[in-house]
Amino acid sequence: DEAITVANLAKQMGQKAGEVIKKLLLLGLPASINQALDFDTAALVASEFDFEVEKVGFEEEEVLQTQQDREEDLVPRPPVITVMGHVDHGKTSLLDAIRKTNVISGEAGGITQHIGAYDVKLENGHVVFLDTPGHEAFTAMRARGAKVTDIVILLVAADDGVMQQTIEAINHAKAAEVPIIVAINKIDKPNANVEKTKRQLAEQGLIPSEWGGDTTMVEISAKKQIGIDELLEMVLLQAELLELKANPNKPARGRVIESKLDKGRGPVATILIQEGTLKAGDIYVCGVNSGRVRNMFNDRGKRLMSAGPSMPVEVLGFSGVPNAGDQFIVLTDEKQAKLVAEHRSLKLREKELTRTSKVTLESLFDQI
Ligand code: GDP
Ligand code: MG
Repeated sequence: DEAITVANLAKQMGQKAGEVIKKLLLLGLPASINQALDFDTAALVASEFDFEVEKVGFEEEEVLQTQQDREEDLVPRPPVITVMGHVDHGKTSLLDAIRKTNVISGEAGGITQHIGAYDVKLENGHVVFLDTPGHEAFTAMRARGAKVTDIVILLVAADDGVMQQTIEAINHAKAAEVPIIVAINKIDKPNANVEKTKRQLAEQGLIPSEWGGDTTMVEISAKKQIGIDELLEMVLLQAELLELKANPNKPARGRVIESKLDKGRGPVATILIQEGTLKAGDIYVCGVNSGRVRNMFNDRGKRLMSAGPSMPVEVLGFSGVPNAGDQFIVLTDEKQAKLVAEHRSLKLREKELTRTSKVTLESLFDQI
């Protein structure tokens, strides 16, 4: 299981990679600079340089292990919401309406930054919205084993009714076992047909509570700002039922929601913190990258020193751009963070190498 790249081995011996490659060639073992060498090969070539290779076991799981939280350490955390629905049914309009109606006085003036998520403080609660394109993000996250959404708001335009992407969204949410709150939108339109929309939803297994079912449906107009407060109220109610909790008093763990390479700032990622508290200066591993929180901002561009569960934060300090869905884990030891990241990228490279060679072989057979 232990492996080391030619480049890394050379570096550790203070040799040029080319020299190591030459030696390997003389030993009848042609290798490239990024190739992973197993322990025996590494030991053999190292002995040619009068080095001994020590076998150090490395168990990623061990490094990343955490203790189970005790019940008394858990405190309520805000729900994380994803809005989904058919194109043009009003997703953008709803998110805008929510943002506009809920600028709290203390934070007024802060201009909303696009970081892929934002939090809304209400009189009697606090809600976090994921702002990344609904379906794709949801599916991509799920494919990576990440659960980042507590509640789905399913948006259905009352003039259009249930459409194909509405059904897809229902299926996604059901498969992920995430509760759905329906928002029937565009009720201000003359051709809005709420009853028909409800019937169509019922056909999909979402029975409105007023019909004896268990799906909450709120009639809204994102454009005219009707029913928005009621919808948020229902979201808070549902969240209460879920009893969402996390332990804020430990090193943070979360998921990458969005990431990019910023021209001036380097790799930047929005992390949704799922447990623990992230602090400026924290050391972390994230996919094949590691880093230290150099700077951290909220969705209003305000610099933060710390952030707790359910908070989306923009983090600077990555060694490279992580992928959406990557897990973000704070470690206490910088060496360990680098080791985990290096180990992972090595494994990834090995996988890619085998994949490439397989593909080559197959295409070879194709040609015969
Ligand atoms: P998205 O594709 O789901 O993000 O939908 P948008 O928010 O871009 O809305 C699509 C169109 O529907 C836009 O022209 C909106 O102005 C309009 N729209 C959204 N909500 C409402 C509403 O409540 N009433 C009316 N009349 N139009 C709406
Ligand atoms: Mg949109």
